[in-house]
Amino acid sequence: MFIDREEIEGYLSKALGASQDEALAILKKADRMEGLTPWEVAVLLQNSDPEVQKEIFHVAGEIKKRVYGNRIVVFAPLYISNYCVNNCIYCGYHRTSGITRKKLSMDEIRREVQILEAMGHKRLALEAGEDPVNCTIDYILEAIKTIYDTPSAKGNIRRINVNIAATTVENYKKLKEAGIGTYILFQETYHQPTYERMHPKCLKSSFEYHLTAFDRAMEAGIDDVGAGALFGLADPKFEVLGLMIHNQYLEKKFGVGFHTLSVPRLKKAEGMDLSQFPDLVPDELFKKLVAILRLAVPYTGIILSTRESAKMRKELIHYGVSQVSAGSQTGVGGYQQHEEGKSTAQFQTSDERSPLEVLNDLMKDGLIPSYCTACYRQGRTGDRFMQLAKSGQIHHVCTPNALMTLMEYASDFGDTAFKQAVKGMIDKELEKIERPDIKAITQKRLEQIEAGERDLFL
Ligand code: SAM
Repeated sequence: MFIDREEIEGYLSKALGASQDEALAILKKADRMEGLTPWEVAVLLQNSDPEVQKEIFHVAGEIKKRVYGNRIVVFAPLYISNYCVNNCIYCGYHRTSGITRKKLSMDEIRREVQILEAMGHKRLALEAGEDPVNCTIDYILEAIKTIYDTPSAKGNIRRINVNIAATTVENYKKLKEAGIGTYILFQETYHQPTYERMHPKCLKSSFEYHLTAFDRAMEAGIDDVGAGALFGLADPKFEVLGLMIHNQYLEKKFGVGFHTLSVPRLKKAEGMDLSQFPDLVPDELFKKLVAILRLAVPYTGIILSTRESAKMRKELIHYGVSQVSAGSQTGVGGYQQHEEGKSTAQFQTSDERSPLEVLNDLMKDGLIPSYCTACYRQGRTGDRFMQLAKSGQIHHVCTPNALMTLMEYASDFGDTAFKQAVKGMIDKELEKIERPDIKAITQKRLEQIEAGERDLFL
C-alpha cells in the first residue's frame, strides 16, 4: 500500500534533527511554487524556530495571493440522508446513535434547494451517510438531477460536489455521468491502527478500500477529487504527511493529484465525547498545518467549513484557504428547519453568519467572494485545470468570473449598501485587469448582468 506508517513515522522522527538552514532552504523552494516532497513537509512540520514559523506564514500568504489573488469561493453543504450503517465513533450519524433517521424526498430536496438558491448559492456539497438499502446510488443520482433541475427566479445550482462513502468504479461512472463537480472523500485518518479503531465492524472498516476510493473514482473518469483528513483523530502531523503522500501517489498514477483539500477539525457530535480524543488540534498548530499545506500543494484549493469560527476562517484565508462554506446547516432538511427555528446537526458549527454577512465581511477584508462554477462547465478539470493554474493564465478567467458572479449576487440579493460596496470593489478590480481585451469583455458582461442577463462566464 502506498501509505506506509513506518515511512511516515520515519520522516517525522528524522525531521526532528533537521537544521534551521534546511528549513529556510525548503521555504525558498516553496516560494518558487514547485511544491514540496514529504520529507520537506516533515521538516517544516517539526520545526519550532520562531523565525521559521514566521516565514512559513509569510510564504504561504504570498503563494495564496499569487495563485488565488483576492478571490474566495463560497458554497454550502446539503445533507440529504442521515441513514448510516457505519460505526464511526466520532460521528453523530453512527448506526447506534439515537438520532431520528431521515432521508429527504425529492419534494423536500427541491424545497431545500429553493432555500439555498434564495440565499444566493450556486455550488453545493451534497452529503449523505452510507446505507446501501436506504440511501442507494440511484437515490443519490435522482437527488443530483432534482437539484440541477430546480430553478428559482434567481438562478439555479450550477455545480454539485459530492461527499458520499467510498464506492465502486461502476457507481463512480454513474456519478460522473450525472455531472458532478468534485468527488470528495475524507480519509478521516491515514494512521491505519487509529482508522481501524475509529470504524469498528462496519462497511467503512477497510482502511485499504477507503484509501483506494480515488483510484476507482479516477478510473471511472472523475478527474477532480477532493481529499481531507478529520483532524483530531490521530497525530495531525502524521495526517498532513498522509495527505501529501496520497496526493503524490495520484499525481504519479493519474497525472493529477487532489483538486481540493478539506481540513475539518473534530467537533462535538451526538453520542460522542470530545474528551475521548487525545489528539485534538490546538488553534496555533492548526494554522501552521494549513499554511504548510498551502506551501506543499500551491495549486490545490483548500476548503474550510463552518466547523471553524468566523475569526479562524478570516485568518486562514490569508494563509491558504481558497473556499469557504456560508450559511451552512448540517442536518437533513436543515435549511427548512432553520427557517422554522429548529435545528438538527451532524456536528456543531461555529460560524452562524448568513451568506450576506459572510460576503460583507469578506469584502471588508478586500476579498472578492466568488460563486464561479465556470472551470468545470468549460471542461477545465483534472490536469487541464492544473496546467492552466500552474501557467498562471487562470487569473485571466478567475477574476472576471468572480466579479461576474458577485455582480449577479448583488443584483439579486444585495441591499443598497451591499450593491454600493460591490460597485466600488468591481471598479477597483477592473482597474487591475491588465489585458485590455479581457477588461473590455468583462466590463461588457458586467453591464449585461446588471441589465438582467445571468450565468455569463469566461
Ligand atoms: N458518509 C460519508 C463517508 O463515509 O465518507 C461522508 C459524509 S459525512 C456527512 C462528511 C464528513 O463529516 C466525514 O467524512 C467526517 O470527516 C466528517 N465528520 C463526521 N463527524 C464529525 C465530527 N464530529 N466533527 C467534525 N466532522 C465530522
